[in-house]
Amino acid sequence: MLKKIAIVGGGLAGLIAAIRLGKAGLPCLLFEKKVYPFHRVCGEYISNEVLPFLKKEQLFPENIQTPRINVLQLSSVSGKTAELSLDMGGFGISRYAFDYFLAQQAVNAGVEIIHEEVDAITFYEQEKTFSVTTGRGSWQIDFVIGSFGKRSRLDINLQRSFIEKRSPYVGIKYHIRTQHPDNVIALHNFNGGYCGISNIEDGKSTLCYLAHRDLLKKHKSISALEKEVLFQNPHLERIFTFAEFLFGKPETINEISFETKEPVFNHILMAGDAAGMIAPLCGNGMAMAIHTGKLVSDIVTEAINHQHSREWVEAGYTQQWKKLFQDRLRTGRVIQNYLFGSVWSSRLAVSLAVNSNAIANYIARRTHGEIIQ
Ligand SMILES: Cc1cc2nc3c(=O)[nH]c(=O)nc-3n(C[C@H](O)[C@H](O)[C@H](O)COP(=O)(O)OP(=O)(O)OC[C@H]3O[C@@H](n4cnc5c(N)ncnc54)[C@H](O)[C@@H]3O)c2cc1C
Repeated sequence: MLKKIAIVGGGLAGLIAAIRLGKAGLPCLLFEKKVYPFHRVCGEYISNEVLPFLKKEQLFPENIQTPRINVLQLSSVSGKTAELSLDMGGFGISRYAFDYFLAQQAVNAGVEIIHEEVDAITFYEQEKTFSVTTGRGSWQIDFVIGSFGKRSRLDINLQRSFIEKRSPYVGIKYHIRTQHPDNVIALHNFNGGYCGISNIEDGKSTLCYLAHRDLLKKHKSISALEKEVLFQNPHLERIFTFAEFLFGKPETINEISFETKEPVFNHILMAGDAAGMIAPLCGNGMAMAIHTGKLVSDIVTEAINHQHSREWVEAGYTQQWKKLFQDRLRTGRVIQNYLFGSVWSSRLAVSLAVNSNAIANYIARRTHGEIIQ
């Protein structure tokens, strides 16, 4: 009998897993609570570590002009700058365009997309199957891939331990038009956070920042926070003052957590941020989400084709996930905590970048993976 697979969450991890399982001829349902295309909080810089894979799988949107990025500019809170060349580099594309493109590829691969929020995922030990429940019904499923992102109501329902710890970060994103070189991603520090800017398709730029939530509480509104805190960095003051802002209001998220999570929980194979989120300043959360989507779909396909046990799948996935991502997440947390978001730490980061390319390149290597094919 054909095994049925449910993928819960249609970001990059879920979409890549769904496309590959669909292409392998396996029946799969993708549950996504929102309707494509839609905007998300994300810096929209994708590391080139996934470029060969996307091209090989024909999942790179060739008809969209994506700026190639190979220089990182850092600025300290006071505006002192340093530039580094990025060995691997990346490209810029909005999630609005990229996720929509991938959702179309999923449909072409035979995936059924169900635009509903999943309320519960329950594993029945005796029957060795799951039920996946939305407001409209329940589905009996053999394998569930949890790709529901950094924080979902499902995490509360599943009683995952990381959810009990409050997280201090909020994320805010705009699309803007401004003078920004295509090949540069800039990371501008301010007291209590950092703001990235890089270009995407159609001559637009993404302006996205991570700030401590106490700042928002103190300054009461996003615009007051920007004027009173971000503007202390002269680069940010210039960008915010002269750019054309393309959204009516910014995209926002709160409770961004970098706590450790489990790659398998209650027999659900977690992918992307649901398995663990890397600090955004490392610039490769999306590449990791794509990579885990590939990993989880490979292992499920092999298990179904060769009738391996559930235990084989869970142990194999956990082992490979840890080998590929555990150290990168750990390094990301250290950088997030010690090198950014305060006067002294951002000064240190900039002077490290100015004075020691070797250290900066070492850090980049520790947070980025090998090119995936
Ligand atoms: C401020 C900020 C800036 C960032 N900048 C970058 C960057 O420049 N480069 C980079 O590589 N990474 C960046 N990241 C990280 C990157 O955005 C994530 O790592 C990546 O989006 C993870 O993909 P994902 O598929 O795991 O989750 P997501 O893309 O978050 O997708 C999860 C999906 O699950 C859906 N969902 C959730 N719950 C349910 C449910 N119960 N039922 C149905 N659907 C559900 C959601 O609607 C969502 O579509 C940034 C992150 C932040 C916070």
